[in-house]
Amino acid sequence: MNAQRRPTQSVATSMRMKLSALGRMARRFPRAHLAVSAALGLTVVIMALAPESGESRPERTRTVALAESAPRPAPALKPQPAPAPGRAQTAAEPVPTAPEPDWVELKVQSGDTLSTLLQAHGVTAAQVHRLVTGDDQLAELANLRPGDSLNITVDGAGELTALSYHPSRIETVKAILEDDGRWRVENETRQYQRRTRFAEATIDNSLFLAGHAAGMSDNLTMQLANIFGWDIDFVLDIRNGDRFRVLYEELYLDGEKVGEGNILAAEFWNQGRHLSAYRFQTRSGDTDYFDSQGRSMRKAFIRTPVAFSRISSRFNLGRKHPILNKVRAHRGIDYAAPSGTPIKSAGKGKVIFAGVKGGYGNVLILQHGQRYSTLYAHMRGFAKGIRVGSRVNQGQTIGYVGMSGLATGPHLHYEFRVDGVHRNPQTVELPKAESVTNNEKPQFLVQAKRMEAQMTLFAEAATLASSNVF
Ligand SMILES: [Zn+2]
Repeated sequence: MNAQRRPTQSVATSMRMKLSALGRMARRFPRAHLAVSAALGLTVVIMALAPESGESRPERTRTVALAESAPRPAPALKPQPAPAPGRAQTAAEPVPTAPEPDWVELKVQSGDTLSTLLQAHGVTAAQVHRLVTGDDQLAELANLRPGDSLNITVDGAGELTALSYHPSRIETVKAILEDDGRWRVENETRQYQRRTRFAEATIDNSLFLAGHAAGMSDNLTMQLANIFGWDIDFVLDIRNGDRFRVLYEELYLDGEKVGEGNILAAEFWNQGRHLSAYRFQTRSGDTDYFDSQGRSMRKAFIRTPVAFSRISSRFNLGRKHPILNKVRAHRGIDYAAPSGTPIKSAGKGKVIFAGVKGGYGNVLILQHGQRYSTLYAHMRGFAKGIRVGSRVNQGQTIGYVGMSGLATGPHLHYEFRVDGVHRNPQTVELPKAESVTNNEKPQFLVQAKRMEAQMTLFAEAATLASSNVF
């Protein structure tokens, strides 16, 4: 989440966009939750496949937290007047003498709608209607969920005069009824306090156990595995004695830890190999991980564009077609997966075809640079915003598995072409993703050196701390 503080503004259009983005984010949450569950599922697999150790020693781990980036006080929100106790139940009664309207906090419970909540406080249905139709961003209020809360003020005549709510922990949206009967909407985003943390561990059992012992969440360990996953097979390549160091951010609000940010830098020693990775934001705004020379840690393409699928038909130039029942080369790979499973873009690129192509049903073709293109067929549909000319990032959801066209069941038919020639997606050699550009390299090298020095400092401090024990 973008943690930049945005000034309160009254330009309705830009806020409208922000709010609808927030709405989308909220709607996407269940999917994010699924992804986390999936990641945890993978955790179990990785733990189960960890190398056996003769004796089960505890992982040798150290974790230190020092040199916190000077904790700035969280930018204060306009203080929310506390809801008057006892008022919530009786707010429908007009209070003729109160000079300032009181804020009332409404907790959304299962079965509540914006209308029922507000009408219980004397607000008329007509005003609720005007509220959610008068302004696009306020229309999001119709999507309240149990557990959300709203703060409102109602004047003596039972008219709603102000409303505020938190679409997320760091966002506040406030709407105030103007004299002309229109709603003025303000929103504000708080900034997280970020603290730099360091963890290191030697793997004696599994990556995730080592991560736990070093105080890392599974999410953070997943990040680590994703960064090095292009070079290290975390199921097969890990050995006892492999070790890692991580420099990462923790996020705080009001002094309370609310989550982890990104890994800033990491090192991994795997079977005698030493790999290091540094986070860097390029001038185009993309953030990625690069080695100490500025080469991408990633390949330009992911091998399998559908997670949790199985290959149902391989690349085979002499295959008998299951429906047409005659020999027809199979110039791609079929991945069977439940209908609706998200399909990810194999690489960064541009949509050059999105439509129906005969027996292939719904087809998407992406062009990646000059030489490469990928094709996705039998899709149930395309993801929102995907059309000819759209730019997509690697791993972005571009559509959903289906069985459009000639298909015996839901699957993705996936093709990979190099210079226009079909290649086997399973075995084709994948190029590295783009390196840091020559223009940006000096800046990258300075940043990488700084992060490296910081990690060394942390590691030395940890050694010192542990030797002081004696
Ligand atoms: Zn196929």
